[in-house]
Amino acid sequence: MKPKTARLTDIIGLLNQLCPPDLAEEWDNVGLQVGDPKAEVTKVLVCLDAEEIAVQEAQRLGAELIVSHHPLIFRPIKHLSPTDMTGRVLFQAIKQDIAVVSAHTNLDRAADGLNDWLAQRLGITNIVPLERPQKGHFYKLVVYVPPEYAMEVRDAVFAAGAGHIDAYDHCSFSSRGTGTFRGNQGTQPFIGTPGELEATEEVRLETILPVSLSNKIVSRMLKAHPYEEVAYDLIPLEKERHDVGLGRVGQLEQTISLQQFAEQVKVNLQLPALKLVGDLQQQINRVAVCGGTGMSLFSAAVSHGADCLVTADIKFHEAQRARAEGVALIDAGHFATEQIMVAELSQRLRKVSTEQQFHLEVIEMTAESDPLVVF
Ligand SMILES: [Zn+2]
Repeated sequence: MKPKTARLTDIIGLLNQLCPPDLAEEWDNVGLQVGDPKAEVTKVLVCLDAEEIAVQEAQRLGAELIVSHHPLIFRPIKHLSPTDMTGRVLFQAIKQDIAVVSAHTNLDRAADGLNDWLAQRLGITNIVPLERPQKGHFYKLVVYVPPEYAMEVRDAVFAAGAGHIDAYDHCSFSSRGTGTFRGNQGTQPFIGTPGELEATEEVRLETILPVSLSNKIVSRMLKAHPYEEVAYDLIPLEKERHDVGLGRVGQLEQTISLQQFAEQVKVNLQLPALKLVGDLQQQINRVAVCGGTGMSLFSAAVSHGADCLVTADIKFHEAQRARAEGVALIDAGHFATEQIMVAELSQRLRKVSTEQQFHLEVIEMTAESDPLVVF
């Protein structure tokens, strides 16, 4: 098949696949910030912040879309003028026909998301989320199908992403029974005659699906189903998701001193310096991470038995508390702990866009720098 040109809405679909928007915090504003969903996109610039420099870079490169980690629009806009930082970016973006889409706390929480990348970058293995597993991420789909169509409908929903339970896929259950219906005179039933009560053998097909893919899966199911009026239920499940959540915790390959670990963090995140709390000789094995501002996860890190939490934006009293509790802290800076998303997200965006046969160039923003420097 010939590569096709993606529209902005297609790219948003790919991002939703990588970091479902339902994972975002309620206060967050992820997804489309500015742009026409129908616009064609051939080049994407991935960056941490959609600042003026990013818009200039996108313009220089001919990129029609900027994908940023931090949302461009956070608070409702009361007026739009180039007199403030956000206004200037929005003004330029609209004038240059450059769209902006953001993947923020959904990317932080996603499986194979920012915090996994940070943990991997720091040599941590056996990684699990720090945040407690959350409910509300799954639906059970129950659909009634004529037996000869059961396989087709099952395959269609599996292909769209249903039927995954942890390391298993193609998970479903089917049972046979009798369905009854009567269509009025205006109907064109697949089986039977309008106005007559019908009883027919049907398969009750059950499977599980993530809430984030429910629209896609239901539309594929309806397409594969022969009935004019399909009987199906989407039932919210109490089941928890164990692969998503804020922060990550895991093990270093071997126990090392805080001094050695801090050196390792500096090298792996290309930092000239970092701030830390703890005794340089204290032994570190279990490490928690949270990219960006992450001290709200300190208690979770402690309860997971972490010897050290790597995060950013640590305040004085938070540092005091950690010292009193004997848990080491490394403040590697907001920029360094999150800027890693540029390369990682770009790589995944290339992969999923190739899978969809989109002709799309994904460019990593290299001109960004930490506004806070060590003097
Ligand atoms: Zn951030």
